[in-house]
Amino acid sequence: MKYADSREFAAAQDRADPLAAFREHFNFPLPRGKRSPVYLCGNSLGLQPKLAAQFVNDELRNWKDFAVDGHFHPDQPWISYHRRCASGFAELTGSLQSEVVAMNTLTVNLHLLMASFYRPTKERFKIVIESQAFPSDRYAAASQLRMHGHDDATGLLEWASRDGETRLHIEDLEALLDRHGDSVSLLLLPGVQYYTGQVIDMAAVCNLGRKHGCAVGLDLAHAIGNVEMALHDWAPDFAAWCTYKYLNAGPGAIAGAFVHEKHCDSDNLEQLHGWWGHDEATRFKMAKSFTPAAGAELWQMSNPPILALAPVVASLQIFQEAGLAALRAKAEKLTGYLDWLVATRFGDRIGSITPADARGCQLSLIVKDPSIDARSLFDKLCELDVTGDWREPDVIRVAPVPLYNNFEDAFEFAERISLALSSHRT
Ligand SMILES: *Cc1c(COP(=O)(O)O)cnc(C)c1O
Repeated sequence: MKYADSREFAAAQDRADPLAAFREHFNFPLPRGKRSPVYLCGNSLGLQPKLAAQFVNDELRNWKDFAVDGHFHPDQPWISYHRRCASGFAELTGSLQSEVVAMNTLTVNLHLLMASFYRPTKERFKIVIESQAFPSDRYAAASQLRMHGHDDATGLLEWASRDGETRLHIEDLEALLDRHGDSVSLLLLPGVQYYTGQVIDMAAVCNLGRKHGCAVGLDLAHAIGNVEMALHDWAPDFAAWCTYKYLNAGPGAIAGAFVHEKHCDSDNLEQLHGWWGHDEATRFKMAKSFTPAAGAELWQMSNPPILALAPVVASLQIFQEAGLAALRAKAEKLTGYLDWLVATRFGDRIGSITPADARGCQLSLIVKDPSIDARSLFDKLCELDVTGDWREPDVIRVAPVPLYNNFEDAFEFAERISLALSSHRT
């Protein structure tokens, strides 16, 4: 696509954008000063869909009007409310509806799923993570090792990028497993690396896990709602994701989990059980014995917080209307435009560490010019009402989200960098 560095070009792209109307479905933050906000932080917290308030209010009303009968009474009884997320989650992850479930929060789900899929033996107990793993994932893996009586210093194996690079190469994971595969119990890896925005070849990771006899768990925090996936076909053992980043379901909203069909209805797997993992048809017989629910729902424990699930349902409805394929097509152009603008205007001073051939909508920008302090540039952008995020030691992450950002946002971002840099020099 041929880009141009002008507001007219950006506005023309927006007029031709078939998804442009979705911007109106979201609440943008209030301006901090006199400029309009440029919100590029959907990788951290997605904007509030206007529909969220309506869905939450519906359940507040059901609670008010029906009290305990709300579990069974209204059109959408709470007893099966979590199931309203199944088709949306299945579409976004390329799974069967029976393989996905809305429950808990991300790190909790990683632990619950590791309780089933990290089953170390004396010989095979190590966990492979990537060396720049999100801290919560590293803490979770290390504590699982310790819980099972292993030393986390030797039990964690790290897939690292090469010297002087930030990109992860699948060949390096392959080499690591060729050397140590026999001692590895689990690969716990991201779908999209949160710092660089690199999309990991998840199919290749799953194949390597299978080849070496390791379980595979994927953390899809930055992948869900961002890139297309085919979990059922790739067949990781499990996956988990949060819903407040690209899924726009609000701070701390209820997360999602995937368990591959091959493990559902398996008798020889261990799970931590609660009553919501009991078969729904007979759950309220309150029997002493446990009858497992079918599919990923078996991993549920508690009755879910309906008020925290309602925005997830609202948000998934919007995704289903927009369609992930159309969102991806827009994201390629939109992130491409932002990347092109930065390179065209500031190429000698600012660069991106996000691989152009393996990215979702995020760009991770670094300052190349030693005379510019990256942190002050970021602070200056905040003053100019640009919301991106700063990640230590030196990255500014920005994510033009195809659902609600537009080409004018990308253009305005470049304008404000120009402003920030000119004030920086004086
Ligand atoms: C955002 C994120 C988390 C956050 O975990 P919570 O349990 O939702 O607080 C964990 N892991 C990764 C990779 C993330 O990007």
